[in-house]
Amino acid sequence: YGSSNQKTDYVFKVVLIGDSAVGKSQILSRFSRNEFSLDSKATIGVEFQTRTMVIQHKSVKAQIWDTAGQERYRAVTSAYYRGAVGAMLVYDITKRPTFEHIPRWLEELRAHADKNIVIILIGNKSDLEDQRAVPTEDAKEFAEKEGLFFLETSALEATNVEEAFVTVLTEIFNIVN
Ligand code: GDP
Ligand code: MG
Repeated sequence: YGSSNQKTDYVFKVVLIGDSAVGKSQILSRFSRNEFSLDSKATIGVEFQTRTMVIQHKSVKAQIWDTAGQERYRAVTSAYYRGAVGAMLVYDITKRPTFEHIPRWLEELRAHADKNIVIILIGNKSDLEDQRAVPTEDAKEFAEKEGLFFLETSALEATNVEEAFVTVLTEIFNIVN
């Protein structure tokens, strides 16, 4: 999936952050292997996964880092953010507190990451519309105020996952070119 013998023109490190159980690992699994698991175990030890995409005729290797169960406030180390050019800030649309913690994650990101990092806010589990606790408008407004991209995704149904990565990677690509 996404593999090729082509030379790599760029490697972009992108980090996934957000509360535990919002679906970060499944978003990554969907993007890197086109797989999803409903009973995924808490992430342990996996550092990153890669997928190579072609953007404007260049081969871009996305190196996506997933937190290894470090979702408690301030537990993510600065090594995790080091060299990151993109970040995906994930909450669960069915769990209001995961959205309310986003400003904290953003603060942490801005404290540790490069100031030009490209950030996308992601409301995951959009397939659970009947359990929605965060209106799309609230998140959209927040994203606009903070200058973030924003999409709602479903790792389960593969909705907007590809688009979220393409949005971030294309923006990074445009910044470096
Ligand atoms: P993480 O702790 O943020 O890495 O979250 P996980 O990726 O481990 O997902 C936590 C739980 O939510 C697992 O049971 C997943 O199967 C489930 N999950 C993840 N994404 C989705 C989604 O888009 N829709 C639904 N319905 N469940 C999801
Ligand atoms: Mg995880």
